[in-house]
Amino acid sequence: MDLINLGLTEREMDTLLATKKLYGEGWPARVSTISKELNVRPPTVEEYIDSLISKGYIEKNAGVVRLTDMGLEVVRTIERNHRVIETFLYRMGMDKDLACKNAKIMQYHSTEEFINNLCNLLGHPSYCPHGKEIPHDSECCSRPQTLEIVLKR
Ligand SMILES: [Zn+2]
Ligand SMILES: [Zn+2]
Repeated sequence: MDLINLGLTEREMDTLLATKKLYGEGWPARVSTISKELNVRPPTVEEYIDSLISKGYIEKNAGVVRLTDMGLEVVRTIERNHRVIETFLYRMGMDKDLACKNAKIMQYHSTEEFINNLCNLLGHPSYCPHGKEIPHDSECCSRPQTLEIVLKR
């Protein structure tokens, strides 16, 4: 998935990430819990949620917010972008925290083509420097590595 042409704002994408995180931790994602997670006022979170519902990325039932399949795909792509970029920066010699900080900015603004090229260059890595799994792209990661560059580690 290419995030660039979806027309989602960073805050909308953060709302999807927060929803997945709360759900993963066993908390129902509601306006109140997402508001705390993002440190954004509830009326503003309502706006993000309404926009995401109209675009088909989340559903809301009895106050509980859930990701649709499309929303899950966006979250998976953000995680893939983040972890591929982070792995690249780390192998370039940047420390983990700084690599993570930079990846947080670039994760929203990278084309699929760029990420797949980096993934190929890195040999389709399975884990980021923090040991978290990097979601594979079925097309990218079934191809052999064809790009090469000399990195420090
Ligand atoms: Zn990170
Ligand atoms: Zn790959």
